[in-house]
Amino acid sequence: MTLAVNITNCPNHCPGCHSPHLQEDIGETLDAQTMDTILERYGRSVTCVCLMGGDATPDQVQQLADHIRKTSPLKVAWYSGKQAVPDNFQHFDYVKVGPYKAEFGSLKEKTTNQRLLKNVDGQPLDITDKFWKK
Ligand code: SF4
Repeated sequence: MTLAVNITNCPNHCPGCHSPHLQEDIGETLDAQTMDTILERYGRSVTCVCLMGGDATPDQVQQLADHIRKTSPLKVAWYSGKQAVPDNFQHFDYVKVGPYKAEFGSLKEKTTNQRLLKNVDGQPLDITDKFWKK
């Protein structure tokens, strides 16, 4: 099971954005201390933490991923809305890339433009088809 944590202040402005509130700069600061508090509560029920957003501050997303991977056995995924594989890819176990385009559907649709990449020895392996409805 995966714990999803939304990061606001999204800079991507995808037309037809599925979560417009995430474009606002709202909520609590998500630092290592806040993450520890979240994981004290939910960390034993999950195997992965998914950081959703954060394209405005990729260095801070990386720092969070480093912290989680250093202090817990949990895997870390990052859902970026950028098209390109991020430079800091190796700091994550999984990275989703690609902006949301309503006409192509979400990651669960075979028509999606988005890609889910697994970090295999530092190289991205496309595992998007594992999300498609059978
Ligand atoms: S990346 Fe997600 S939250 Fe950001 S604008 Fe696009 S759909 Fe909305």
